[in-house]
Amino acid sequence: MPALQRSEATVRARLLEVDGYTVDLDLTRGPDRFVSTTEIRFRCGEPGADSFVDVDPALLRRAVLNGQPLDPAALDGNRLALPGLRAENALLVEAEMRYSRTGEGLHRYTDPADGAVYVYATCGPDLAAKVFACFDQPDLKAPFTLTATAPADWTLVGNGAKIRGEGGSWEFAPTKPISTYLFTVVGGPLHSVHAEHDGIPLGLHARRSLAAELDREAPELFEVTAASLDRLHQLFDERYPFGEYHQAFVPEFNWGAMENPGCVVFRDEMLFRSPATEAEHERRAMVVCHEMAHMWFGDLVTMRWWDDLWLNESFAEMLGYRVAAEATRFTGAWTGFSAERKGWGYDADQRASTHPVAGNGTRSVAEAMVNFDGISYAKGASALRQLVAWLGDEAFFAGLNAYFADHLYGNAELPDFLAALSASSGRDVHAWADDWLRTSGVDTLRAETERAADGTLTALTVVNEGSRPHLVAIGGYRSEHGRLVPVGRVPVEIGPGRRVAVPALVEAGATLVVPNDGDLTWAKIRLDPDSWRAVEESLSTVEDEVTRAVLWEHARDLVRDAELSPAAYLGLVEHHLPAETSDNIVERVLAFARTHVVGHYLPPARRADALAAVSRTARALLAGDGGHGLRLAALRAAVESSGGEQQLAELRGWLAGKELPDGLTVGPELRWAGLARLAALGELDEDAIAAEAAREPGSEAEFGAARALAARPGEAAKARAWEILFESSETTSNRALEATALGFWASGAPERQHAYALRFFERIAGAADRGDIVARLLGRTLFPDAQATPEVVAAAEAVLADPALTPALRRNLADSTDDLRRARAVRGAF
Ligand SMILES: [Zn+2]
Repeated sequence: MPALQRSEATVRARLLEVDGYTVDLDLTRGPDRFVSTTEIRFRCGEPGADSFVDVDPALLRRAVLNGQPLDPAALDGNRLALPGLRAENALLVEAEMRYSRTGEGLHRYTDPADGAVYVYATCGPDLAAKVFACFDQPDLKAPFTLTATAPADWTLVGNGAKIRGEGGSWEFAPTKPISTYLFTVVGGPLHSVHAEHDGIPLGLHARRSLAAELDREAPELFEVTAASLDRLHQLFDERYPFGEYHQAFVPEFNWGAMENPGCVVFRDEMLFRSPATEAEHERRAMVVCHEMAHMWFGDLVTMRWWDDLWLNESFAEMLGYRVAAEATRFTGAWTGFSAERKGWGYDADQRASTHPVAGNGTRSVAEAMVNFDGISYAKGASALRQLVAWLGDEAFFAGLNAYFADHLYGNAELPDFLAALSASSGRDVHAWADDWLRTSGVDTLRAETERAADGTLTALTVVNEGSRPHLVAIGGYRSEHGRLVPVGRVPVEIGPGRRVAVPALVEAGATLVVPNDGDLTWAKIRLDPDSWRAVEESLSTVEDEVTRAVLWEHARDLVRDAELSPAAYLGLVEHHLPAETSDNIVERVLAFARTHVVGHYLPPARRADALAAVSRTARALLAGDGGHGLRLAALRAAVESSGGEQQLAELRGWLAGKELPDGLTVGPELRWAGLARLAALGELDEDAIAAEAAREPGSEAEFGAARALAARPGEAAKARAWEILFESSETTSNRALEATALGFWASGAPERQHAYALRFFERIAGAADRGDIVARLLGRTLFPDAQATPEVVAAAEAVLADPALTPALRRNLADSTDDLRRARAVRGAF
């Protein structure tokens, strides 16, 4: 059955109004299935009309509509027809449902550390029918009442507050009206920590084997949670609307986190079993704030249909960074946005698949799924920062509060949002939206200069080569004793196609001119040649870390556009990264240098030397006096880029805990990264990997071993990994597949890798039969990014010509193929 179409959702929403769901789950029926019994009370505006309910069971036991049994055999795919509705209806559906191993529906996980079993429900965007019968679309909201039967030693957490939970029998209070995609329940022998802030009960939950990590991280998590609640309560008139606020850390989660009202779910890697960098703490704080912002944007007021996904994600993204920066100790959070998130979005916005931020014509939920991308998040958030800069905070938040008040517990669309902001600001927000939300692509802001023979700046113009107006700052830096010292930051408004002179920076004698200094807008930048020379000479001497992030992103953009050679980029890295002080920037630059510049943009014959340059840089940072997080980021890169006798001996020492740089320790994550590197270099066989895994059983060992096994260079190892990836049964988890895919390309003779790359395209279309998550995982993680040959590009294009490809797979393959073409262009240019 194809995914729900927008046209069908529109008809159903016009017809029906849902008064409430009562969901009962029996989680005691063995490892494969659970029993789901749902009662839906709903009204129909046209008595006598027909509709349908979504339910995706292993076995539909019975369905009863208004006292009349429906024939279970009438189930068509995941739809059950509801004929002859009355004005008021009661539907009962009892079904046996499958537990998921791929995080789609009710995921079931057995912890390798202690054998304990856990479950959690992921219902977004259209997976709720795998958990309970429902009208699965965002604009049919209703209160949910959950009851459940679970093993006696389990704790359950859901959207509503617990009413009772003794002896395995659980009942939760009815929720406020919420969309079906926001339903969740988390269960198992959980370890929990409770607190309260401003009258709101708080809970943190994780599996038992992570009890020590949860206890260690709880103070910081509660601190960020409380600070974020306070800040959002200052910004919004409406208080947090969903009662208690629980945050559960769950295994094998496909996304970063999910904003279920009352019970946010995070991937449990965020509990940091290994030492973490400050950038990782900051990112987690941002995610906590992001998910909390969704309680208003998305949960309290929900997009009517998925084409307004940005109403959820762009706001949560913008507020996630803003609240983290304003209210928590992570005051530099915007550096992470500049250094990491924006690149994700810029890449997406320059591919053939780019789309407008809003109103992107999404017809089905399947199409919606592919737009959880850097455009809906990073670009949308950047557009909103422009809007805030233009309207001012007061008018912006007044408009938002009016919008919430108008649509409380309901749904809204782009025009509703624009109307509220137009009213609060008196400005033409519709024209702004036409420029910023209904167009696609990145504008370029170019600095044009005239200079005297000695290099002194005599004229400066900034040109907007794009189609949107930009409110930006132009930064000037003067070279003094080998350092770039700020001499001014001039705010300017540049209309599309316009040129703006910036005489103040001429008078100040700027050596380096940075368009979009402070990173307020969404644009590529191009510097004048003298400014670029100053960057090459003195980038690391710029004091402002957002400016450095903008310049590093600019360098990344130049290599991607084949305007800067990989060698020159690596030269910049080797010259300036050792003096970098932001671990956000260090992580991002080292990762891009290693995976993209070395791994994709250089042909195989040139990679070893280039990787050595990355390795030297990482080791220089390690030997430096940077902070703990920064040196930890460097240690990771040093581990991943180790090669040659001496470095491998050093790596073995680190993994044994010997001769580690001051203050650094090796946790399970880094240990397995190192073991995977040794395996890829042929230094670790199957028995050695098994022995390592037995030392400390747990999820890291399970996934680390899967990755290390696939990373071994021998043909037998590759054949085995290939079998796991393409022939494995439904019991192989999403995360085990991901780990195997991550290891697969880490080694192998170039001609064998090339042969596997061609085989990938023979097999990948068939992955769609295994569901969206597996198809995305294989389509993305296993894509042969490093094989930028004409044959591989042709093979990719042949698969893309198949009209039957699912939207998720098509987007993944098309985007990765765009990147292959880019790599070919870079290789061709240098
Ligand atoms: Zn989000």
